[in-house]
Amino acid sequence: MNKIYFIIGSQDLYGDETLMQAQKDGNEMAEFLDLKIGARVEALPIVRNGEEALWCIEKANTDKECIGVICWMHTFSPAKMWIKALKILNKPMLHLHTQYNEKLPYDSIDMDFMNLNQSAHGDREFGFICTRLGIKREVVVGYYKNEEVIKELSRFTDVARAIAFSKKLKVAMFGNNMRDVAVTDGDRVESEIKYGWNVNYYGIGDLVKLIEGVSDSEVEAKMAEYEAKYTFATKNIDAVKEQAKYEVALEKFMAEKSIGAFTDTFEDLNGLSQLPGLSVQNIMARGIGFGPEGDYKTSALSAVLFEMAKGRNGATGFSEDYTYDLTFGQEVELAAHMLEVSPVFADNKPEIQVHPLGIGGKSDPARLVFDGIEGEGIAVCMIDMGNRFRLICAEISLIKAIKEMPNLPVARLMWKLKPDFKTGAKAWIYAGGAHHAVVSTALSVDDIRIFAKFTDTELIVIDNDTNIRELEQQLNILDKLS
Ligand code: MN
Repeated sequence: MNKIYFIIGSQDLYGDETLMQAQKDGNEMAEFLDLKIGARVEALPIVRNGEEALWCIEKANTDKECIGVICWMHTFSPAKMWIKALKILNKPMLHLHTQYNEKLPYDSIDMDFMNLNQSAHGDREFGFICTRLGIKREVVVGYYKNEEVIKELSRFTDVARAIAFSKKLKVAMFGNNMRDVAVTDGDRVESEIKYGWNVNYYGIGDLVKLIEGVSDSEVEAKMAEYEAKYTFATKNIDAVKEQAKYEVALEKFMAEKSIGAFTDTFEDLNGLSQLPGLSVQNIMARGIGFGPEGDYKTSALSAVLFEMAKGRNGATGFSEDYTYDLTFGQEVELAAHMLEVSPVFADNKPEIQVHPLGIGGKSDPARLVFDGIEGEGIAVCMIDMGNRFRLICAEISLIKAIKEMPNLPVARLMWKLKPDFKTGAKAWIYAGGAHHAVVSTALSVDDIRIFAKFTDTELIVIDNDTNIRELEQQLNILDKLS
């Protein structure tokens, strides 16, 4: 079970009685927050000096179940005692600027009360040393039982859990990056250093061997799963069975190697008769990351963001910018892919259809066809700027398909850009945004902001406040600084 340590700051000065009270208050607060914020919350012994601060942080750093820490100064806590501890902290930190008491006891307040309950004082001292040391942290302000505060704490937990997941994520690339494509490529050494993604190439032959070994009963079990979830709108059952084989083989491959995300490419399908479509779509819906055409960054990012969104309402998965309706003033984007759009976005029960594919020179692949859900969401992509990674996060409004598209045999999403079509598309292109993105109606810009902060990644946000002149200035400054 994921755990967050609740670290209560104080000092020796106040005497045992005050310190015991501070510990008791802290324990009670941790107990209140326990499980309410999506993780176990455990109070550590109150911190009175540098040695104790170091002990707490070392414990958090080495505890495999610990995904992050919450720090709070109940009293004043001279911050030089935190320097050595903070310098080695390797888990995300939330600085909770709160109080044990919600209201001031105007009638009874005295100096004893003030000395015990002085986080307005102590948290500023702690904040200074974090800023001075350049410690990335999320600051949350307000009474700890307040609903908004709990929501912010839960958001931190979700991001911290996703970062812990990211550090262990293994990505398989079947085949390499699509020939000559720039934006899907990247520095795999750097992304392992920064995000923990262990990305490795595997020959498609390794998978083909597994596919050939898939038994009839395994195929039947997978077909039963498809029948339960999807509508068969094809008579070409053999084509569907072929995808079932691919999926069983992919599952075996990934389970054996503890792989959580993968890529493939239509340029390297030796031994496969179809491009994996339905199989990949069905796998994606379970949170396995996927990036087509060797796009390992999107693949890993989709797995990480799926993990971040766990437990929330909404859908998270891969999509691709494809084409537009440019009717002036009513511009909308149609997002899809050749085959692999995640069925988590389906507004209706997806249909399994089999159609020819214009590229790749393979047999007609089975795929899921559906219209997308509506709702507010974000599109997120990661690009490699050569000397750094950049995340681009745009707020979008997913909408119902404006009209039926009976001749388009792929899953499709439609959305509107913010603040308006021209500005949104311009901003994405100026920022260098890819045509592949992870789309989510479960996550918000704030989730991505916190993830970017703790992974020290540059972030460009495109939302209703985006202004092209300011964005260009921001991009120029970022280029000059790096
Ligand atoms: Mn693509």
